[in-house]
Amino acid sequence: MKNIVLFGPPGAGKGTQANLLKDRFNLVHISTGDVFRKNIKEGTELGTLAQSYMSQGHLVPDDVTIKMLESEVALNPQAEGFIFDGFPRTEAQAKALETFMTQMGSQINAMVALEVADAILVERLLERGKASGRADDANEVVIKERIAEYYRKTDILKGHYQSQNKYHGVDGVGGIQDITGRLISVFELL
Ligand code: ADP
Repeated sequence: MKNIVLFGPPGAGKGTQANLLKDRFNLVHISTGDVFRKNIKEGTELGTLAQSYMSQGHLVPDDVTIKMLESEVALNPQAEGFIFDGFPRTEAQAKALETFMTQMGSQINAMVALEVADAILVERLLERGKASGRADDANEVVIKERIAEYYRKTDILKGHYQSQNKYHGVDGVGGIQDITGRLISVFELL
């Protein structure tokens, strides 16, 4: 199995790129943000809970997020591998993912991180908010809080994968296809 964590701050382009890469490498794409939004749309209990955090720009609690991720993985028993997009976002999630992969007789092969400056992130998210209707992209205060959450809780995970020689940084600024090309070069080596 090839399991890749596609990493980066909000607005780095993880979702866009994962959608372009999953077919090429025959991987199942799991986006925690997409699963939360689906639950919100369907009005599930999980959706109601997640929305109360997402609308503030905060992370959804680890226990809930970890359980959800594990059920999404379990829905794809035939998968040749996964692209995890938006997970892990905390140390507890990274630990849980490691344990979970070991239980499955597998592992995380790499963290591939899209690197983008903060000022560009804010611009991109505001632009996306105009078209997507995502409430958390329409409000600059919420966007800045998401980026702050990223630096408080998530950015530190780079070190975790660096120490295992699994970290690959990729320049996330430029045309979408150019960035896909850069990612493909990294994925092919994994
Ligand atoms: P972005 O990468 O632009 O922030 P996502 O769609 O990945 O967008 O995530 C949207 C929101 O969903 C996050 O701001 C957060 O509230 C919640 N979320 C997504 N993934 C996680 C996670 N792994 N842990 C906690 N909360 C999460």
